[in-house]
Amino acid sequence: MALSKIRSVRALVGRGGGADYHDQSGGHWIDDHIATPMARYPEYRESRQSFGINVLGTLVVEIEAEDGTTGFAVTTGGVPAAYIVEHHLARFLIGRDPAEFEKIWDQMYFSTQYYGRKGLVINAISGVDLALWDLLGKLRGEPVHALLGGAVRDELQFYATGARPDLAKELGFVGGKMPLHHGPAEGEEGLARNLAGIGEMRSRVGKDFWLMLDCWMSLDVSYATRLATRAWNEFGLKWIEEAISPDDYWGYAELRRNVPRGMLVTTGEHEATRWGFRMLFEMECCDIIQPDIGWCGGLTELLKISALADAHSKLVVPHGSSVYSYHFVCTRHNSPFAEFLMMHPDASAVVPMFHPLLQNEPVPEQGRLRISALDKPGFGVELNPDVALDRPFPN
Ligand SMILES: [Mg+2]
Repeated sequence: MALSKIRSVRALVGRGGGADYHDQSGGHWIDDHIATPMARYPEYRESRQSFGINVLGTLVVEIEAEDGTTGFAVTTGGVPAAYIVEHHLARFLIGRDPAEFEKIWDQMYFSTQYYGRKGLVINAISGVDLALWDLLGKLRGEPVHALLGGAVRDELQFYATGARPDLAKELGFVGGKMPLHHGPAEGEEGLARNLAGIGEMRSRVGKDFWLMLDCWMSLDVSYATRLATRAWNEFGLKWIEEAISPDDYWGYAELRRNVPRGMLVTTGEHEATRWGFRMLFEMECCDIIQPDIGWCGGLTELLKISALADAHSKLVVPHGSSVYSYHFVCTRHNSPFAEFLMMHPDASAVVPMFHPLLQNEPVPEQGRLRISALDKPGFGVELNPDVALDRPFPN
């Protein structure tokens, strides 16, 4: 039976938290001298905002059907992504049946391929795709996880990302992942401080709690190998994440051969599409992929990436993205746990990941979330009407 056709697509933008979670005011742990590829320049070492990490802002895509039902989703991309949605992608949705998500994705991807493929354009496509799934769920009166075939477990289990794995342990999470603070340009002293930080946290959390390290593309293979080897041998670090440039597949393959047996190499947060992830699998770059559902091509593409991962015996543990990830993770056996990003400024309490943009955004309690908390049509969240959003390119 045909569903109500799509009558409008709107791209809205906002600032301050939301999907652009790096867009925080001063003193937040997420912008506290974190190692980045720009840290080779001392003037961009202290703050990621100094080199423009929050320059884009949030993108909200709304897709309205002729019966007034509206699906929406959020990702990063701001005004440039809004332009692409309104002026390029919207034409593949207006007048169409929302259930045609495969054909719509295909047309969005191949029509933009000459200037797209990765990055901003794929963020925009992801936002449209997720809004389409939200609309489809609302029109059919089903949560997105039910549209995917249903949950394979009764609850989600989370690790926490933030500056305080010790507090994450007290809050009931299964593990804690902390940011790396010093890159190769800070030399041997920086390496010693990185290792001391891991050691300090290990002493606080005890020997069995998962401890992981997110390097945000900041290292080279040789530094990453030294750091990973010592962190594994001395402190039992579980995984080293996104250690080097996402373009350096050869470097990841070398790093994975170099690290001690049993230690996990993870990456993929800034990778996109089935073709990008195929490189990671076939070149044996990592043990766990971490696609961001709002950046990798959306849910339609993540299903393909995940099937490919499954066939290569790789785990899929998506990067952040709250409900958009949860509805997916609960339906896959090769996604056994999920990430929770601690957006409290000092990582001491659980607050909704997309705060303040969404209403009814579920959060874990004692590091867990019952799937029944996701049993609402679509992704089960609403936009907070108190958050100001602009539509820069109204049709
Ligand atoms: Mg990461």
